[in-house]
Amino acid sequence: MRRKLAAGNWKMNGTGGALAELDALVKAHPAPGCEILICPPAPLIHRAAQTTQGTAVAIGGQDSHAETSGAHTGDTSAGMLLDAGARYVILGHSERRADHGETSETVRAKARTAMQVGLAAIVCLGETLAQREAANTLDIIGGQLSGSVPDLATGENLVIAYEPVWAIGTGKVPTTAQIGEVHDFLRARLEARFGAGVGRSVRLLYGGSVKGDNAAEIFAVPNVDGALVGGASLTAADFSPIVAAL
Ligand code: 13P
Repeated sequence: MRRKLAAGNWKMNGTGGALAELDALVKAHPAPGCEILICPPAPLIHRAAQTTQGTAVAIGGQDSHAETSGAHTGDTSAGMLLDAGARYVILGHSERRADHGETSETVRAKARTAMQVGLAAIVCLGETLAQREAANTLDIIGGQLSGSVPDLATGENLVIAYEPVWAIGTGKVPTTAQIGEVHDFLRARLEARFGAGVGRSVRLLYGGSVKGDNAAEIFAVPNVDGALVGGASLTAADFSPIVAAL
């Protein structure tokens, strides 16, 4: 059985005061029926991990470098995230692919290093609106999946997040049929590449305008094992109903 995962991506939001939201989240879910993860900006990770230590809320990073150390000004290594208390790292988010020119090849190298260091990688994939309108969604997703996921992936060290670029921060959500089509496709591709054992154990998250009022409908779609949530993960009040819906 895949353990459901409610993951929050704070993106470039939050300073020390935001730790109070983590405290509130911890208090709201002493014994949740799913795994809870918050990925704050890098400077907050250590304090966030201390705030949530021994609770049901895990902490993750939003990016890590493909190299383990060296002359890479401004970057953070996977080992540094682990040392700061992170257990997961989001990789290949469409905002990083767009803002930093990350390719699937870059993402695969980053994921390989993160897994070797002992982090679980949440690898993000998603089509643009133009790609969907051109009926290229599955081609794009298939290419991103095979390109971004390293061979050493397992059900423990890999999570996939399907995030249509046009649904991120827009309030637009694909239909449940559209989500189901992509998630079934991802599941079949993972099983074909890694075998049924690993392929069926990798968790598949949906991300893009998930809110308290649409979470239950999305979570009812087969092969949706949770969500990667942006805006609605910033406060405990908004994120709690999503956790509860899992
Ligand atoms: P929103 O939930 O704000 O649409 O963001 C989704 C996302 O990009 C999570 O990684």
